Amino acid sequence: MEALENYIDGKLVPPGDGRYLDNINPATGQVYGQIPRSGQADLDAAVTAAEQARAGWQATPAEQRAALMERIADLIDRNLELLAAAESEDNGKPIALARSLDIPRAASNFRFFAHAITQFASESHAMGEAAINYTLRDPIGVVGCISPWNLPLYLFTWKIAPALAAGNCVIAKPSEVTPKTAYLLSQLCIEAGLPAGVLNILHGLGGEIGNAIVTHPGVKAISFTGGTATGAQIAAQAAPKFKKLSLELGGKNPSLVFADCDLDKTVAGVARAAFANQGQICLCGSRIYVERSIYPEFRERLLERVTALRVGDPLSDVDQGALVSEAHMGKVLGAIETARAEGGKILCGGERLVPDGRCAQGYFVAPTLIEGLPLACETNQREIFGPVATLQPFDTEEDAIGMANGTDYGLAASVWTENLRRSHRVARQLDFGIVWVNCWLQRDLRTPFGGMKNSGVGREGGLEALRFFTEPKNVCINYD
Ligand code: NAD
Repeated sequence: MEALENYIDGKLVPPGDGRYLDNINPATGQVYGQIPRSGQADLDAAVTAAEQARAGWQATPAEQRAALMERIADLIDRNLELLAAAESEDNGKPIALARSLDIPRAASNFRFFAHAITQFASESHAMGEAAINYTLRDPIGVVGCISPWNLPLYLFTWKIAPALAAGNCVIAKPSEVTPKTAYLLSQLCIEAGLPAGVLNILHGLGGEIGNAIVTHPGVKAISFTGGTATGAQIAAQAAPKFKKLSLELGGKNPSLVFADCDLDKTVAGVARAAFANQGQICLCGSRIYVERSIYPEFRERLLERVTALRVGDPLSDVDQGALVSEAHMGKVLGAIETARAEGGKILCGGERLVPDGRCAQGYFVAPTLIEGLPLACETNQREIFGPVATLQPFDTEEDAIGMANGTDYGLAASVWTENLRRSHRVARQLDFGIVWVNCWLQRDLRTPFGGMKNSGVGREGGLEALRFFTEPKNVCINYD
């Protein structure tokens, strides 16, 4: 059985104390590999390597750093099939999704920030007649990047790429549930000739090696994507050490469907927003609000579409694969039970699915639509992060906005209307970091990405990411 290795100081190495965790394929329920259960000694070695590499990487001209990153992007493209298969095997997602979304986006992350860093210049301005003021943006030094399992390589590289582009050395930890593509990335970084110590990838448990990265005095900033509760824990631990923090956390995102929408496009868009990647995208629209006059027709057409979703072996031609783990499937099925207990009517799904053949032990849940629940209930307030969405009618624009804003989260909302005035008016009043109108997950890497309220602190993407991974130093020169 394959045992993955850590990537420290430019080399693939086993964990110092020889401990491993099982890697399970969620579509089959079978253990198919081992991953390092890294400890403090592994982290100390990685931080030492990063500190040694730091001066050299910082002094490397941005164009050369960019060229290396382009080489990594090319290698990701060249290994698309291998990486997509690994992502699907680790995560349970349809291989077609990994092939069309996750892996190409990982390459784009490197390419985008390779270009961006060559355009990233300091600002300066004159002050009166005899002074000039400029701001330098230096790399922070050694930074930590911690990412979740839902879009494994996509989100892992979304942090690593800007950190490296800005001249930092990185200690990165992928989720212990989906380690494989991060491991393959270490191999590609070696092949690309990334200098030793510039990027170090450690595998293991969040409560162990993740926590150790957050508290290590040599790691000066943490970029974290994951659950809101974990984010709160990390913020508490980082605060006494005054570490710079970027937190991308959970969501409970609304889709607002107005009577003046294009019904065909909206049904397709809302279904995709709710169920893409088994509903395991932080941006998934899990609360669907529909204007009452079209509620019956929309409900019927959505139901038709959702019941037609093909769920099964992620290596075959399906719309939905397996949930990421048995524990997560248990959480999602528990949330469906809570919805039932709260009086929700299950319109479709609501149960585990058991496909035939090699996936009979896999962690599949039928796409589930629930109606009849008020805003103030656990189902509509807590992130479920699975193929489960609620459906409710609304009467006025004001009601729709109130319901959309009525949770502790503020990550992403989508608005479906053909009325231009309404789209601007509603977008303006939604308390979300991202608002899509007549689309969902239409991403532009230049734009700020992140959430309000309990969905996070700070923004990623474009200049925001490069700003996060650099320290501004203002210099004022009086030449009178
Ligand atoms: P998680 O919080 O359990 O874990 C995320 C990562 O943090 C993993 O690598 C984990 O090992 C590590 N970790 C766990 N405990 C830690 C600790 N105490 N210290 C340091 N690291 C620790 O989240 P998850 O279950 O992997 O991912 C699902 C969550 O991520 C959902 O809530 C989802 O909404 C959120 N998410 C948010 C975004 C976003 O951009 N806002 C994107 C994707 C996922």
